Amino acid sequence: MNNIIDLLIIGGGPAGLMTAKTAIELGLKVTLVEKNKDFQQLRRACSAQFILNDGYENEFINLKDEKILFTKNNFEVTYTGKLVKVKNKYYTSPKGHRIHFALPNPKAFAVKFDKQKLLYDLYNECVNLGVDVRMSTLACGGSDKGNYVSVDLKGNTTYTLNAKKVVIAEGANAKLTGLFGLNKGRVLHGTPLVFSCIVEGATGFEPQSWNQFYGSKYHPFAEVIIESAIEGTDAIEITIMGTKALRPDVLFKKFIKNSPMKHNFTNSHIIEKRGCSLKSYDSLKKPYIDNVLVIGDSAAHVEVIVQGALMCGYHAANAIKDELMGINGFEKYTNWWNKSFDFNHTDPFEFVNLYSSLAMRPKYSDEELDYMFSLLEGTPICGNFSQFEVPKNIWKVILSHKNQIQNENPILFDKIKKIDKLNQEGKLN
Ligand SMILES: Cc1cc2nc3c(=O)[nH]c(=O)nc-3n(C[C@H](O)[C@H](O)[C@H](O)COP(=O)(O)OP(=O)(O)OC[C@H]3O[C@@H](n4cnc5c(N)ncnc54)[C@H](O)[C@@H]3O)c2cc1C
Repeated sequence: MNNIIDLLIIGGGPAGLMTAKTAIELGLKVTLVEKNKDFQQLRRACSAQFILNDGYENEFINLKDEKILFTKNNFEVTYTGKLVKVKNKYYTSPKGHRIHFALPNPKAFAVKFDKQKLLYDLYNECVNLGVDVRMSTLACGGSDKGNYVSVDLKGNTTYTLNAKKVVIAEGANAKLTGLFGLNKGRVLHGTPLVFSCIVEGATGFEPQSWNQFYGSKYHPFAEVIIESAIEGTDAIEITIMGTKALRPDVLFKKFIKNSPMKHNFTNSHIIEKRGCSLKSYDSLKKPYIDNVLVIGDSAAHVEVIVQGALMCGYHAANAIKDELMGINGFEKYTNWWNKSFDFNHTDPFEFVNLYSSLAMRPKYSDEELDYMFSLLEGTPICGNFSQFEVPKNIWKVILSHKNQIQNENPILFDKIKKIDKLNQEGKLN
C-alpha cells in the first residue's frame, strides 16, 4: 500500500513534540497532529516546574547554557525562556502553622519555567527539521490493520492517514488510548477539574516559594496551591482543584473572598486564567499494543510531568526506529518506562491511601490539622517535590511524635493508625 508514513504522533504536548523531533533526526518520515490551533497561548493548567531532586524519575537533570541536560538518559533539549528558582515550600494549616521544606545550602529543588516557550521552541525545531505538523487536527478514531495503523483525522475536512507505527501522546484524558483498547481493566481513580490563574497585586507571599494550604477554611476537600509565577516578580499562580459539583473557579472565589487568606487579595487582580480536567487512571504497565505505543500522561498515573514527558518522547522515537528495523523497541521502551517512574513500582492502592490521607481530605478536622502541623513547625523537612516522597517524609515526622499524639489526642491517633501500620511495615522508607 502506498502513502504509508513511518510514524504518526497524536498530540503536540512535550511528549509528542519530543517524539517528533527525535524521530525525524533519526531519519523517519513523521506526521504530528495537534487539536489546538497554535502554541501562542497555553490554556491548560500546569505549574511548569522542573524538579531538580537527584534521581527524580531515575534522572539527574541539569539546566545549563539554555539547555535542559538529561544526564542519565543522555540527551538534551534547548530551552531559552525564563527560569525562577524555588527554594522553599510551605504547607499551612487553618490557623497558620507551617511545615517548611527546604534543601540544605539552600539549594533550589525546583525551577519554574515558561511552558509555552518550551513547546513553541520544540514546535519550531520540528517544523524546521521537516516534521509534517498539522494543527487544528483532531485524531478521532482508527484501527490497527496488522502491518499499519489507520487513523481518522478531523481538520478542515475529515480524512484517514495510514502509518506503520502510531505514538499516542494525547495527555491524561487517554481517549484514543481507550479506543485502541489500552484502558481495558485500568482503574479510574477520579476525574478532577483544575482551575489556575495568574494574579497580580496579592501580598504576603514569599518570592521563590511554593505554598499549599490545608483545611476546610481554605477548601472543602483538597489543598490550595500558591506559587511564584514566571510572569513577573509581583505575580503569583494559584491552582485549585474541584469537581463538576464543586467547581474549582467557584472555590477560588471563596478562597480569595472568605478564607483566612482574604486580606492578601484585597488589591489583587487576575491577569490570566487556565484550566483542565483530568482522568486519574492507574498507569499502563504495558503501554503498547500491536503497532501503537502510548506515552506521557496518557499512560501515567496522573502525570509524568514535563521532564518525564520529554524523556518519554526521546525513548519512544528510538523505540519506533528499532521496531521499524525489526528490533523489539516497544519492549525496550516498556522496561525503561517501568524502571523510571515511581507510580509503576508502587502499589497504586497503597499510594492513593498514603497520598490522599496526607492531602488530609476530608477526615481530619481543622483542629487536628492545626495540631499535627504545630508538631512539625520548626523542623525543616527535606525539600522534595515527589508526590511519593513528600507524604512519606511528613508522616515519618508526625509519627515520631506518636506517643505524644496518643496521650494528647487519642481520637486523632486512632485515625492515623493505618499510616502507622505502613510505617511499621517499612513502607514509608
Ligand atoms: C494542575 C497541574 C499542575 C502541573 N504542574 C506541573 C509542574 O509543576 N511541572 C511539570 O513538569 N508538570 C506539571 N504538570 C504536568 C504536566 O502538565 C504534564 O505531565 C505534561 O504536560 C504531560 O505531557 P504530555 O505531552 O504527555 O501531555 P499534554 O501536555 O497533556 O499534551 C497532550 C497534547 O495532545 C493534544 N491532544 C489531545 N487529544 C488529541 C487528539 N485526539 N488529537 C490531537 N491532539 C490531541 C492536546 O491538545 C495536548 O496538546 C501539571 C499538570 C497539572 C494539571
